[in-house]
Amino acid sequence: MSECAKFRELLEAYALGALDAPERAALEAHLATGCDDCAKALAEARWLVSQLAYLAPEAAPSGMLKGRLLQTVRSEAQAAKQSASPKSAIPFWMWAGVAALFVATIYSAWNAQKMQREIQRSDNIAAALLQRRNQLEAQLEDARREATILVDPASVKIALSSSDPQTPPLEATWHSQLGIVLTGQKTPLPPGNRVLQLWLIPKVPGGKPIPSLTIRPDADGKFVLLVANPPELMAQTKALAITEEPEGGSTAPTTAPRWVGGVS
Ligand SMILES: [Zn+2]
Repeated sequence: MSECAKFRELLEAYALGALDAPERAALEAHLATGCDDCAKALAEARWLVSQLAYLAPEAAPSGMLKGRLLQTVRSEAQAAKQSASPKSAIPFWMWAGVAALFVATIYSAWNAQKMQREIQRSDNIAAALLQRRNQLEAQLEDARREATILVDPASVKIALSSSDPQTPPLEATWHSQLGIVLTGQKTPLPPGNRVLQLWLIPKVPGGKPIPSLTIRPDADGKFVLLVANPPELMAQTKALAITEEPEGGSTAPTTAPRWVGGVS
């Protein structure tokens, strides 16, 4: 019993190929005796290790990953549209691709025993896996929604131009059911921690601008903002406007709009 308990602690490292030779030999000798419980635990450990790919550190290249996924999901959405098939599930090979991107990082982190310190027990691993997996699923769901909004012919394109001719325009794509995707390229960075905030200008006379989400472009001035639940219907919106606001956004615009686009 205590013999088995001792081996249990080694199974994950064994499944990763990270045990040293004497430990490995001892464990293999024990497994060779036909201990059913340890064999089952080993199968679980192997499953767990196969899932470790989802445990990427937050420093993982999420921008690049998101870009790749977006590309993949976009072409998938186009293919699905052509074959007029109903919404397909996220294909398994895409998960495998995500795993492949991360696995090298994880493996070396494990070898450096950073992870062994961080995650001592398998229930912690399971909780962390679940959390990471949920994050990735949410990210994929957003990417899928963005892609669908961008390719659906029912979406309305709205060019948002700046009063400054040197400032590149932004583009919004609005799908009445799925929301708005706002994109920018070479967008001038707001100073300090300030952000760009989207406003919906209602058609109703005298209607106040309705606040929506905020975003900060990356160092190249690129951004993609998904507004999954716009605060107003397209039919009731006269225009979209972008202002510069303090971090966290404002409830009413505090600066003049830098970009405006009419919703036809
Ligand atoms: Zn055993």
